[in-house]
Amino acid sequence: MANCAIVGINWGDEGKGRMVDLFTKNFDVVVRFQGGGNAGHTVINEHGKFALHLLPSGIFRDGVVNILGNGVALDPENLWTEMRDVLDKGVKITPENLRISDRASLLLPWHRDLDELEERRLADKKFGSTKQGIAPFYSDKYQKKTILAGELFYPEELKEHLASLLEWKNLTLTKVYGAEPYTMERLEEWLQTACEKIKPYICDTGAYLKEAQDAGKHILFEAQLGSLRDLDYGIHPYTTSSNTTAAYAPIGSGLPSARIMDVVGVVKAYSTCVGEGPFVCEMFGDEAEELRKAGFEYGAKTGRPRRVGPLDIVATRYGVEVQAATELALTKLDVLSYLDKIPVCTHYLLKGEQTDRFPFPTALKDAKPVIEYFDGWKCDISGVRRWEDLPKEAQEYVTYLEKAVGCPITYVSVGPERDSIIIRK
Ligand code: GDP
Repeated sequence: MANCAIVGINWGDEGKGRMVDLFTKNFDVVVRFQGGGNAGHTVINEHGKFALHLLPSGIFRDGVVNILGNGVALDPENLWTEMRDVLDKGVKITPENLRISDRASLLLPWHRDLDELEERRLADKKFGSTKQGIAPFYSDKYQKKTILAGELFYPEELKEHLASLLEWKNLTLTKVYGAEPYTMERLEEWLQTACEKIKPYICDTGAYLKEAQDAGKHILFEAQLGSLRDLDYGIHPYTTSSNTTAAYAPIGSGLPSARIMDVVGVVKAYSTCVGEGPFVCEMFGDEAEELRKAGFEYGAKTGRPRRVGPLDIVATRYGVEVQAATELALTKLDVLSYLDKIPVCTHYLLKGEQTDRFPFPTALKDAKPVIEYFDGWKCDISGVRRWEDLPKEAQEYVTYLEKAVGCPITYVSVGPERDSIIIRK
Protein backbone atom coordinates (compact mmCIF):
# COMPACT_ATOMS: atom_id res chain seq x y z
CA MET A 1 0.00 0.00 0.00
CA ALA A 2 1.34 3.44 -0.95
CA ASN A 3 1.76 6.30 1.51
CA CYS A 4 -1.65 7.66 2.43
CA ALA A 5 -2.98 10.76 4.19
CA ILE A 6 -6.31 10.90 5.99
CA VAL A 7 -7.54 14.47 6.09
CA GLY A 8 -10.68 16.45 6.90
CA ILE A 9 -12.58 18.04 4.04
CA ASN A 10 -14.76 20.43 6.03
CA TRP A 11 -14.61 22.11 9.46
CA GLY A 12 -13.14 19.14 11.34
CA ASP A 13 -14.91 16.45 13.41
CA GLU A 14 -15.65 14.50 10.22
CA GLY A 15 -14.65 11.19 11.79
CA LYS A 16 -10.99 11.05 10.78
CA GLY A 17 -9.96 9.20 13.97
CA ARG A 18 -12.44 6.47 13.16
CA MET A 19 -11.07 6.12 9.63
CA VAL A 20 -7.42 6.11 10.76
CA ASP A 21 -8.26 3.43 13.32
CA LEU A 22 -9.75 1.34 10.52
CA PHE A 23 -6.86 1.92 8.12
CA THR A 24 -4.07 1.18 10.58
CA LYS A 25 -4.31 -2.58 10.04
CA ASN A 26 -2.68 -2.00 6.63
CA PHE A 27 0.01 0.45 7.78
CA ASP A 28 3.27 0.15 9.67
CA VAL A 29 3.60 3.77 10.77
CA VAL A 30 1.04 6.49 11.66
CA VAL A 31 2.24 10.09 11.87
CA ARG A 32 0.51 13.20 13.20
CA PHE A 33 1.95 16.16 11.30
CA GLN A 34 0.19 19.28 12.60
CA GLY A 35 -2.08 20.67 15.31
CA GLY A 36 -2.16 19.94 18.99
CA GLY A 37 -4.54 19.06 21.76
CA ASN A 38 -7.24 21.46 20.56
CA ALA A 39 -9.45 18.96 18.78
CA GLY A 40 -10.49 15.43 19.50
CA HIS A 41 -10.46 12.26 17.46
CA THR A 42 -12.99 9.79 18.80
CA VAL A 43 -12.06 6.14 18.40
CA ILE A 44 -14.18 3.20 19.50
CA ASN A 45 -12.59 -0.26 19.42
CA GLU A 46 -12.12 -3.39 21.50
CA HIS A 47 -10.26 -1.39 24.20
CA GLY A 48 -13.14 1.06 24.75
CA LYS A 49 -14.03 4.60 23.69
CA PHE A 50 -11.25 7.17 23.47
CA ALA A 51 -11.13 10.90 22.74
CA LEU A 52 -7.59 11.26 21.43
CA HIS A 53 -6.21 14.78 21.16
CA LEU A 54 -2.54 14.41 20.39
CA LEU A 55 -1.79 10.69 20.26
CA PRO A 56 -1.92 9.21 16.75
CA SER A 57 -4.94 6.94 16.30
CA GLY A 58 -2.67 4.00 15.41
CA ILE A 59 -1.74 3.63 19.08
CA PHE A 60 -4.28 0.82 19.48
CA ARG A 61 -2.78 -1.54 16.91
CA ASP A 62 0.02 -3.93 17.82
CA GLY A 63 3.09 -3.47 15.69
CA VAL A 64 2.18 0.04 14.48
CA VAL A 65 4.75 2.76 15.19
CA ASN A 66 3.10 6.09 16.04
CA ILE A 67 4.93 9.33 15.51
CA LEU A 68 4.32 12.88 16.64
CA GLY A 69 6.05 14.88 13.92
CA ASN A 70 7.87 18.19 14.08
CA GLY A 71 4.74 20.04 12.91
CA VAL A 72 2.63 19.31 15.99
CA ALA A 73 2.13 21.55 19.00
CA LEU A 74 3.68 19.29 21.60
CA ASP A 75 2.09 19.97 24.97
CA PRO A 76 3.93 17.69 27.45
CA GLU A 77 1.32 18.12 30.21
CA ASN A 78 -1.69 17.26 28.08
CA LEU A 79 0.14 14.53 26.23
CA TRP A 80 1.09 12.81 29.46
CA THR A 81 -2.52 13.04 30.77
CA GLU A 82 -3.75 11.50 27.52
CA MET A 83 -1.12 8.76 27.63
CA ARG A 84 -2.16 7.91 31.21
CA ASP A 85 -5.82 7.60 30.16
CA VAL A 86 -4.95 5.22 27.34
CA LEU A 87 -2.45 3.24 29.46
CA ASP A 88 -5.05 2.88 32.22
CA LYS A 89 -7.36 1.11 29.77
CA GLY A 90 -4.72 -1.52 29.10
CA VAL A 91 -3.27 -0.16 25.84
CA LYS A 92 0.48 -0.54 25.53
CA ILE A 93 2.52 2.65 25.00
CA THR A 94 6.29 2.26 24.90
CA PRO A 95 9.19 4.16 23.29
CA GLU A 96 8.89 1.49 20.56
CA ASN A 97 5.32 2.26 19.50
CA LEU A 98 5.26 5.99 20.32
CA ARG A 99 8.05 8.24 19.09
CA ILE A 100 8.12 11.99 19.48
CA SER A 101 10.15 14.10 17.09
CA ASP A 102 13.15 15.82 18.70
CA ARG A 103 12.35 18.70 16.34
CA ALA A 104 8.79 19.19 17.61
CA SER A 105 8.42 22.50 19.45
CA LEU A 106 7.15 22.41 23.01
CA LEU A 107 3.95 24.17 23.95
CA LEU A 108 5.05 26.07 27.02
CA PRO A 109 2.83 26.57 30.09
CA TRP A 110 2.27 30.25 29.26
CA HIS A 111 0.78 29.49 25.85
CA ARG A 112 -2.46 28.29 27.42
CA ASP A 113 -2.54 31.38 29.69
CA LEU A 114 -2.02 33.66 26.70
CA ASP A 115 -4.90 32.02 24.83
CA GLU A 116 -7.20 32.59 27.79
CA LEU A 117 -6.00 36.18 28.33
CA GLU A 118 -6.49 37.06 24.67
CA GLU A 119 -10.00 35.56 24.49
CA ARG A 120 -10.86 37.54 27.63
CA ARG A 121 -9.50 40.75 26.05
CA LEU A 122 -11.54 40.12 22.88
CA ALA A 123 -14.71 39.54 24.97
CA ASP A 124 -17.67 39.38 22.56
CA LYS A 125 -15.35 39.51 19.52
CA LYS A 126 -13.67 36.26 20.50
CA PHE A 127 -12.91 33.47 18.00
CA GLY A 128 -14.12 30.61 20.14
CA SER A 129 -10.66 29.25 20.87
CA THR A 130 -10.45 25.95 22.75
CA LYS A 131 -7.87 27.74 24.94
CA GLN A 132 -5.26 25.03 24.52
CA GLY A 133 -2.61 27.61 23.65
CA ILE A 134 -2.38 26.63 19.99
CA ALA A 135 -2.41 30.10 18.39
CA PRO A 136 0.16 31.59 20.84
CA PHE A 137 2.24 28.46 20.40
CA TYR A 138 2.41 28.63 16.59
CA SER A 139 3.02 32.40 16.67
CA ASP A 140 5.98 31.80 18.95
CA LYS A 141 7.20 28.86 16.87
CA TYR A 142 7.41 31.08 13.80
CA GLN A 143 9.16 33.74 15.86
CA LYS A 144 11.58 30.99 16.93
CA LYS A 145 10.62 31.59 20.56
CA THR A 146 9.92 28.04 21.71
CA ILE A 147 11.95 25.06 22.80
CA LEU A 148 12.54 21.98 20.67
CA ALA A 149 11.76 18.67 22.35
CA GLY A 150 15.35 17.51 21.69
CA GLU A 151 16.68 20.39 23.82
CA LEU A 152 15.54 18.45 26.89
CA PHE A 153 18.68 16.37 26.35
CA TYR A 154 20.90 19.48 26.70
CA PRO A 155 20.03 20.72 30.24
CA GLU A 156 22.73 23.42 30.46
CA GLU A 157 21.81 25.08 27.17
CA LEU A 158 18.12 24.54 27.86
CA LYS A 159 18.22 26.55 31.12
CA GLU A 160 19.84 29.46 29.35
CA HIS A 161 17.37 29.28 26.48
CA LEU A 162 14.38 29.12 28.84
CA ALA A 163 15.67 32.06 30.89
CA SER A 164 15.82 34.26 27.79
CA LEU A 165 12.33 33.21 26.69
CA LEU A 166 11.04 33.83 30.21
CA GLU A 167 12.35 37.38 30.25
CA TRP A 168 10.78 38.07 26.84
CA LYS A 169 7.42 36.44 27.55
CA ASN A 170 7.01 38.16 30.91
CA LEU A 171 7.00 41.50 29.08
CA THR A 172 3.87 40.43 27.19
CA LEU A 173 2.22 38.81 30.18
CA THR A 174 2.69 41.73 32.53
CA LYS A 175 2.72 44.79 30.26
CA VAL A 176 0.13 43.78 27.65
CA TYR A 177 -2.27 41.71 29.76
CA GLY A 178 -1.44 42.84 33.33
CA ALA A 179 -1.01 39.17 34.31
CA GLU A 180 1.36 37.57 36.82
CA PRO A 181 4.89 36.96 35.51
CA TYR A 182 6.25 33.40 35.25
CA THR A 183 9.24 32.36 37.34
CA MET A 184 12.14 30.03 36.57
CA GLU A 185 11.01 27.83 39.50
CA ARG A 186 7.67 27.28 37.82
CA LEU A 187 9.35 26.36 34.57
CA GLU A 188 11.72 24.00 36.38
CA GLU A 189 8.78 22.26 37.98
CA TRP A 190 7.25 21.87 34.53
CA LEU A 191 10.52 20.39 33.27
CA GLN A 192 10.73 17.96 36.20
CA THR A 193 7.16 16.74 35.92
CA ALA A 194 5.56 16.78 32.48
CA CYS A 195 8.74 16.98 30.36
CA GLU A 196 10.58 14.19 32.21
CA LYS A 197 7.60 11.90 31.62
CA ILE A 198 7.66 12.24 27.84
CA LYS A 199 11.45 12.39 27.48
CA PRO A 200 11.94 8.63 26.94
CA TYR A 201 9.80 8.85 23.79
CA ILE A 202 11.74 11.68 22.13
CA CYS A 203 14.12 10.71 19.34
CA ASP A 204 15.20 11.50 15.78
CA THR A 205 11.93 10.47 14.12
CA GLY A 206 13.04 11.96 10.80
CA ALA A 207 15.80 9.34 10.57
CA TYR A 208 13.33 6.62 11.57
CA LEU A 209 10.81 7.70 8.90
CA LYS A 210 13.49 7.83 6.22
CA GLU A 211 14.59 4.29 7.12
CA ALA A 212 10.98 3.12 7.17
CA GLN A 213 10.38 4.64 3.73
CA ASP A 214 13.56 3.09 2.31
CA ALA A 215 12.50 -0.28 3.71
CA GLY A 216 9.20 -0.01 1.85
CA LYS A 217 7.06 0.39 4.97
CA HIS A 218 3.58 1.83 4.63
CA ILE A 219 3.12 5.22 6.21
CA LEU A 220 -0.19 6.84 7.13
CA PHE A 221 -0.35 10.59 7.73
CA GLU A 222 -3.10 11.67 10.13
CA ALA A 223 -4.43 15.22 9.99
CA GLN A 224 -6.37 17.20 12.54
CA LEU A 225 -9.34 19.49 11.73
CA GLY A 226 -10.30 20.11 8.07
CA SER A 227 -9.68 22.12 4.89
CA LEU A 228 -11.83 25.06 5.99
CA ARG A 229 -9.68 25.46 9.10
CA ASP A 230 -6.37 25.45 7.21
CA LEU A 231 -4.25 28.46 8.10
CA ASP A 232 -3.68 29.41 4.44
CA TYR A 233 -6.75 28.03 2.65
CA GLY A 234 -9.44 28.11 5.33
CA ILE A 235 -11.95 30.72 6.45
CA HIS A 236 -9.51 33.35 7.68
CA PRO A 237 -9.35 34.39 10.53
CA TYR A 238 -11.53 31.55 11.83
CA THR A 239 -8.89 28.98 11.00
CA THR A 240 -6.55 27.03 13.17
CA SER A 241 -2.91 28.10 13.31
CA SER A 242 -1.43 25.26 11.27
CA ASN A 243 -1.88 23.67 7.84
CA THR A 244 -4.46 20.92 7.92
CA THR A 245 -3.88 19.96 4.30
CA ALA A 246 -2.23 16.82 2.93
CA ALA A 247 0.35 18.97 1.13
CA TYR A 248 1.82 19.89 4.52
CA ALA A 249 2.14 16.27 5.66
CA PRO A 250 5.67 15.68 4.31
CA ILE A 251 6.97 18.83 6.05
CA GLY A 252 5.16 18.43 9.36
CA SER A 253 5.80 14.72 9.66
CA GLY A 254 9.58 14.90 9.33
CA LEU A 255 9.71 13.14 5.97
CA PRO A 256 10.06 15.95 3.42
CA SER A 257 10.78 13.39 0.69
CA ALA A 258 7.43 11.64 1.17
CA ARG A 259 5.25 11.16 -1.90
CA ILE A 260 1.63 10.76 -0.89
CA MET A 261 -0.26 8.99 -3.64
CA ASP A 262 -3.50 8.38 -1.79
CA VAL A 263 -5.31 11.23 -0.04
CA VAL A 264 -8.48 10.05 1.69
CA GLY A 265 -10.71 13.00 2.47
CA VAL A 266 -13.22 12.46 5.25
CA VAL A 267 -16.62 14.11 4.78
CA LYS A 268 -19.55 13.93 7.15
CA ALA A 269 -22.99 13.24 5.62
CA TYR A 270 -24.06 16.67 6.97
CA SER A 271 -22.15 19.74 8.17
CA THR A 272 -20.93 20.69 11.63
CA CYS A 273 -18.81 23.56 12.81
CA VAL A 274 -17.35 24.41 16.20
CA GLY A 275 -16.57 27.98 17.19
CA GLU A 276 -17.26 31.30 15.56
CA GLY A 277 -17.17 32.45 11.93
CA PRO A 278 -19.38 32.24 8.86
CA PHE A 279 -21.23 28.94 8.39
CA VAL A 280 -23.40 29.49 5.34
CA CYS A 281 -25.59 26.40 5.58
CA GLU A 282 -26.27 26.67 9.32
CA MET A 283 -29.62 25.33 10.59
CA PHE A 284 -31.37 26.79 13.60
CA GLY A 285 -34.20 25.94 15.98
CA ASP A 286 -35.83 22.51 16.27
CA GLU A 287 -34.46 21.30 12.94
CA ALA A 288 -30.90 21.95 14.18
CA GLU A 289 -31.56 20.47 17.60
CA GLU A 290 -32.89 17.25 16.09
CA LEU A 291 -29.85 16.80 13.86
CA ARG A 292 -27.46 17.67 16.71
CA LYS A 293 -29.08 15.05 18.91
CA ALA A 294 -29.23 12.41 16.18
CA GLY A 295 -25.50 12.85 15.45
CA PHE A 296 -24.50 13.56 19.07
CA GLU A 297 -22.75 16.71 17.91
CA TYR A 298 -21.01 17.95 21.03
CA GLY A 299 -17.27 18.77 21.00
CA ALA A 300 -14.91 15.96 22.03
CA LYS A 301 -12.63 18.44 23.80
CA THR A 302 -15.02 21.07 25.12
CA GLY A 303 -18.46 19.40 25.18
CA ARG A 304 -19.77 22.49 23.34
CA PRO A 305 -22.82 21.90 21.14
CA ARG A 306 -21.64 21.98 17.53
CA ARG A 307 -23.33 24.18 14.96
CA VAL A 308 -25.05 21.96 12.40
CA GLY A 309 -26.40 22.15 8.86
CA PRO A 310 -26.98 20.11 5.73
CA LEU A 311 -24.06 18.93 3.63
CA ASP A 312 -22.57 21.93 1.86
CA ILE A 313 -21.55 21.00 -1.68
CA VAL A 314 -19.82 24.34 -2.36
CA ALA A 315 -17.60 24.11 0.72
CA THR A 316 -17.02 20.37 0.26
CA ARG A 317 -15.95 20.71 -3.37
CA TYR A 318 -13.51 23.44 -2.31
CA GLY A 319 -12.28 21.23 0.55
CA VAL A 320 -11.68 18.34 -1.87
CA GLU A 321 -9.68 20.61 -4.20
CA VAL A 322 -7.56 22.04 -1.40
CA GLN A 323 -6.72 18.57 -0.11
CA ALA A 324 -6.21 17.17 -3.62
CA ALA A 325 -8.24 14.23 -2.33
CA THR A 326 -8.05 11.08 -4.44
CA GLU A 327 -11.00 9.40 -2.71
CA LEU A 328 -13.54 10.17 -0.01
CA ALA A 329 -14.88 8.50 3.10
CA LEU A 330 -18.44 9.59 3.87
CA THR A 331 -19.19 9.20 7.58
CA LYS A 332 -22.33 9.24 9.72
CA LEU A 333 -24.73 8.39 6.92
CA ASP A 334 -26.73 6.42 9.52
CA VAL A 335 -27.46 9.67 11.39
CA LEU A 336 -29.68 10.92 8.54
CA SER A 337 -31.98 7.88 8.71
CA TYR A 338 -34.65 9.78 10.71
CA LEU A 339 -35.27 12.38 7.97
CA ASP A 340 -38.19 12.26 5.51
CA LYS A 341 -36.36 14.63 3.19
CA ILE A 342 -32.63 15.24 3.27
CA PRO A 343 -31.53 18.82 2.67
CA VAL A 344 -28.34 19.57 0.73
CA CYS A 345 -26.82 23.00 0.10
CA THR A 346 -26.07 22.85 -3.63
CA HIS A 347 -25.08 26.47 -4.34
CA TYR A 348 -24.64 29.83 -2.68
CA LEU A 349 -26.51 32.99 -3.57
CA LEU A 350 -24.13 35.92 -3.52
CA LYS A 351 -25.27 39.43 -4.47
CA GLY A 352 -28.33 37.91 -6.15
CA GLU A 353 -26.25 35.51 -8.26
CA GLN A 354 -26.03 31.77 -7.88
CA THR A 355 -22.47 30.48 -7.51
CA ASP A 356 -20.80 27.14 -6.95
CA ARG A 357 -17.36 28.64 -6.19
CA PHE A 358 -16.36 29.00 -2.56
CA PRO A 359 -16.12 32.77 -1.95
CA PHE A 360 -13.30 34.86 -0.44
CA PRO A 361 -13.62 34.69 3.38
CA THR A 362 -14.82 38.29 3.79
CA ALA A 363 -17.67 37.69 1.31
CA LEU A 364 -18.88 34.51 3.02
CA LYS A 365 -21.05 36.33 5.53
CA ASP A 366 -23.25 37.58 2.66
CA ALA A 367 -23.67 34.17 1.01
CA LYS A 368 -27.05 32.45 1.35
CA PRO A 369 -27.51 28.70 0.91
CA VAL A 370 -29.56 27.25 -1.96
CA ILE A 371 -31.15 24.09 -0.58
CA GLU A 372 -32.41 21.04 -2.49
CA TYR A 373 -34.11 18.03 -0.94
CA PHE A 374 -33.46 14.33 -1.49
CA ASP A 375 -35.75 11.48 -0.47
CA GLY A 376 -34.87 9.94 2.87
CA TRP A 377 -34.66 6.15 3.42
CA LYS A 378 -36.29 6.09 6.85
CA CYS A 379 -34.83 2.83 8.10
CA ASP A 380 -31.88 1.76 10.22
CA ILE A 381 -28.82 1.30 8.00
CA SER A 382 -26.26 0.83 10.77
CA GLY A 383 -26.08 -2.92 10.16
CA VAL A 384 -25.49 -2.63 6.40
CA ARG A 385 -22.05 -3.77 5.22
CA ARG A 386 -22.50 -4.07 1.45
CA TRP A 387 -23.25 -1.26 -0.99
CA GLU A 388 -25.97 -3.27 -2.70
CA ASP A 389 -27.80 -3.66 0.63
CA LEU A 390 -28.13 0.09 1.17
CA PRO A 391 -31.62 1.44 0.43
CA LYS A 392 -31.90 2.97 -3.05
CA GLU A 393 -32.42 6.49 -1.59
CA ALA A 394 -29.19 6.22 0.41
CA GLN A 395 -27.31 5.05 -2.69
CA GLU A 396 -28.73 7.97 -4.66
CA TYR A 397 -27.64 10.44 -1.97
CA VAL A 398 -24.07 9.06 -2.02
CA THR A 399 -23.77 8.94 -5.81
CA TYR A 400 -25.16 12.47 -6.12
CA LEU A 401 -22.56 13.73 -3.60
CA GLU A 402 -19.56 12.12 -5.26
CA LYS A 403 -20.57 13.51 -8.62
CA ALA A 404 -21.27 16.98 -7.24
CA VAL A 405 -17.92 17.27 -5.45
CA GLY A 406 -15.94 15.49 -8.16
CA CYS A 407 -14.32 12.70 -6.16
CA PRO A 408 -15.27 9.05 -5.65
CA ILE A 409 -16.74 8.03 -2.29
CA THR A 410 -15.05 4.69 -1.65
CA TYR A 411 -15.96 4.31 2.03
CA VAL A 412 -19.39 4.83 3.57
CA SER A 413 -19.44 4.73 7.34
CA VAL A 414 -22.72 3.77 9.02
CA GLY A 415 -21.65 3.70 12.67
CA PRO A 416 -18.79 4.68 14.97
CA GLU A 417 -17.49 1.13 15.49
CA ARG A 418 -14.47 -0.12 13.59
CA ASP A 419 -16.43 -2.52 11.36
CA SER A 420 -19.48 -0.29 10.65
CA ILE A 421 -18.21 0.42 7.17
CA ILE A 422 -19.17 -0.20 3.55
CA ILE A 423 -16.17 -0.40 1.24
CA ARG A 424 -16.91 0.28 -2.43
CA LYS A 425 -13.76 -0.92 -4.15
P1 GDP B 1 -12.47 13.58 14.03
O1 GDP B 1 -11.86 14.65 14.85
O2 GDP B 1 -12.53 13.92 12.59
O3 GDP B 1 -11.86 12.24 14.28
O4 GDP B 1 -14.01 13.45 14.46
P2 GDP B 1 -14.64 13.39 15.93
O5 GDP B 1 -14.11 12.23 16.66
O6 GDP B 1 -14.60 14.70 16.61
O7 GDP B 1 -16.18 13.19 15.56
C1 GDP B 1 -16.69 12.10 14.94
C2 GDP B 1 -17.74 11.46 15.85
O8 GDP B 1 -18.59 10.70 15.10
C3 GDP B 1 -17.15 10.52 16.89
O9 GDP B 1 -17.94 10.55 18.06
C4 GDP B 1 -17.24 9.16 16.21
O10 GDP B 1 -17.32 8.07 17.11
C5 GDP B 1 -18.53 9.33 15.47
N1 GDP B 1 -18.62 8.60 14.20
C6 GDP B 1 -17.67 8.46 13.24
N2 GDP B 1 -18.18 7.81 12.18
C7 GDP B 1 -19.48 7.58 12.45
C8 GDP B 1 -20.56 6.99 11.73
O11 GDP B 1 -20.43 6.57 10.58
N3 GDP B 1 -21.78 6.96 12.34
C9 GDP B 1 -21.98 7.43 13.61
N4 GDP B 1 -23.20 7.35 14.12
N5 GDP B 1 -20.99 8.00 14.32
C10 GDP B 1 -19.77 8.08 13.75
